[in-house]
Amino acid sequence: MQSGGGLALSVLEQKLGNASARAVTGNEPDWLTGREPAASGEWPRTAYRRYLVDTHIPDWDPVLLSHFDASKFVDAMVQGDAHALMLYANSHVGLCLYRSKVGHLHANMRGRDFFGEAVTECRRRDIHPIGYFSLIYDNWNYQNHPDWRMLPEDGYDKNLGSRSGSVCPNSPYRDYALACARELATNYDIEGIFYDMTFWPTVCYCPHCTKRFWQEHGAEPPRIVDWDDPLWRTFQKARQNWLLEFAQAVTNVTRESRPGITICHQFATIFHNWSLGQPLAISKACDFVSGDFYGGPAQKSVVCKAYNGLSQTRPFELMTSRTRSGKEHVTEKPIDELRTESFVASLHSSALLLIDYINIDGTLNPEVYKLLGKLAEERARYEPFLGGELVADVAIYYDKESMYNPDENGIHVAKLQAVDQCPHRDAVVGAAKILREGHIPFEIVTNENLERLSRYRAILLPSVLELNAEQAERFRDFVKGGGVLYASGPSSLDRFNKPAPRFLLEDVLGVRYIGKMGNKMTYVTPEDAGISKAIWPQDHLSYTGAMIKTEALPQALVLARVTLPFVAPEIGRVIGSHFAAFWSDPPALKPEPNPSVVVNSFVSGKGVWVAAPIETTPETVNRELVLSLLRRVIPGPLSFEAETNPAVEMTLFDQAEKSRLLAGLLNLEPQWPQSPQTATVRVLIPAGRRVTKVIAVPEGNSIAFEKVGVYAQFRFDRFESLAMALVEYE
Ligand SMILES: [Zn+2]
Repeated sequence: MQSGGGLALSVLEQKLGNASARAVTGNEPDWLTGREPAASGEWPRTAYRRYLVDTHIPDWDPVLLSHFDASKFVDAMVQGDAHALMLYANSHVGLCLYRSKVGHLHANMRGRDFFGEAVTECRRRDIHPIGYFSLIYDNWNYQNHPDWRMLPEDGYDKNLGSRSGSVCPNSPYRDYALACARELATNYDIEGIFYDMTFWPTVCYCPHCTKRFWQEHGAEPPRIVDWDDPLWRTFQKARQNWLLEFAQAVTNVTRESRPGITICHQFATIFHNWSLGQPLAISKACDFVSGDFYGGPAQKSVVCKAYNGLSQTRPFELMTSRTRSGKEHVTEKPIDELRTESFVASLHSSALLLIDYINIDGTLNPEVYKLLGKLAEERARYEPFLGGELVADVAIYYDKESMYNPDENGIHVAKLQAVDQCPHRDAVVGAAKILREGHIPFEIVTNENLERLSRYRAILLPSVLELNAEQAERFRDFVKGGGVLYASGPSSLDRFNKPAPRFLLEDVLGVRYIGKMGNKMTYVTPEDAGISKAIWPQDHLSYTGAMIKTEALPQALVLARVTLPFVAPEIGRVIGSHFAAFWSDPPALKPEPNPSVVVNSFVSGKGVWVAAPIETTPETVNRELVLSLLRRVIPGPLSFEAETNPAVEMTLFDQAEKSRLLAGLLNLEPQWPQSPQTATVRVLIPAGRRVTKVIAVPEGNSIAFEKVGVYAQFRFDRFESLAMALVEYE
């Protein structure tokens, strides 16, 4: 799938034939390509270099895919130095590229078995063959089974004007998909399958969904997106459960058919809004998490921070394309840029899958693989040193259930205009930027893996819209045990307590909820020297939006107050010039009594509360304020420190069984060629240990280090992209 943009992949406009529907069958005889199943599931551990060739090609013209040559195709992967190759068993066009008795075959195979031939060629070259199967996005079945179609609330028109047709997993399509999964896993010597598009591309109101919702909940599926309406919430939960059940059924049948096979479902959806109805729990139906991303190196870095804790096994898999997106067939990303993106995977000990695009006749541009091979060679040098546990002192809490736009509450589902404006995601991404640029060891923890809380010393709750009592209790326990909780904006507000809304974590954060204050522009005004210093030379920090109005509890320490504009921005008019300044909305001369930054001691830990998600605003002064607040309250030394350009990201992996830590630094400066960087880093020496050596990776030469307090300090001189070192101890 393509994230961060339209979901539909570029598939040629089709003139579809009138092939008749086929019976859905169960177990099929073996047609087979040969070998016994690998039966291990171990292949991902050493396969860091992976490829996929996007093959969403229809068959209405005889030339389409007609020159596919499996031997040449896989030879290109050898040139690209591939460990694993993902092969299309079908595509969004819904035509099977393997010898299926369930699905409709691609006409231009003409008795051949493209998938099987490519699997055999992979085996000949010791490349792990992995299957690709497009679920739900299936044009052939959309056309031939109108009763399987997903039905958007406003009808089929939008779909019929697009290239993609989606079929509903609550329809008989479910049996079709399971039968395909079974025959594919049974009949082919593959080591893994990636199931693409396991989500709801639309809110489906088809007869199958309507019937199921009636049967399960005794109601018609609601049409109004209203997060205050229990029925809407029940419907959204049902969508999630239906999808999870479908994904798990596909996983189960695949695993039964070929024990040891690895299974992934598309998880590029991780930061997508509610509409896809895919909960984070789908990661449990995957052996490792994987998804394709097109938003540049910084986006991939954020994804890795969340994938790390959600993946059942590691390495997880990051996918990106040699072009900027699937909509571009030709234009190559500059090698320097692609290198940086690839090294984001290395920096997080992740596998990387690079996406290429097949030519319409089934051939490849072999020159591309000469370039990708060079890149693979560069990455290969680091691979023997990768792995271990990502070290994180701080975690950002990402709550998938908060991924909606609170300003679009009460809108008809077909009339949503800004469904993807999710303040929670903006705040999570902003917080990640701040921690990355501040060189704070961090990862992202989610509503699906709250059991990881005890690993961290501080948790950030950035504008979390949904938090239930049970989750709040876990955060309360975390602070009781000495942790630090930073919460911004409405985080922990009990939205169902309408008569008397309050923060579930009121006692931890030290503030009592009153409501909202301000509108388009508000200000944080320091009362504390530390805050003044962090924002110097400014006397206020501006925020574009409303703040949460509270009163501080008696024991809480107020560090800053809210100041409103002298004149409310929305009332300024030409007649009478009733505003304070023509262009801007400057702060009033005195702050309000309400706090904007509060620190509160709670049992053994601390709460930090900020009246708005200031982490969302990507200004240096916002970064400095958030970092100063965290540094003020996080006890003890962090696991590493780095003195370097904010554009350099540092990670640390604990490889305890080898008595070493792997430090990595990557230059993320967003222009190429990048300027060379230098860095002085300090790595916390594990308690009771002594650092014996610091070794440059992959070169192997010793790096001079010195003990500075609790740290081993050393320096990286002039690196252009990725720099790594092993810190060995005894
Ligand atoms: Zn449906």
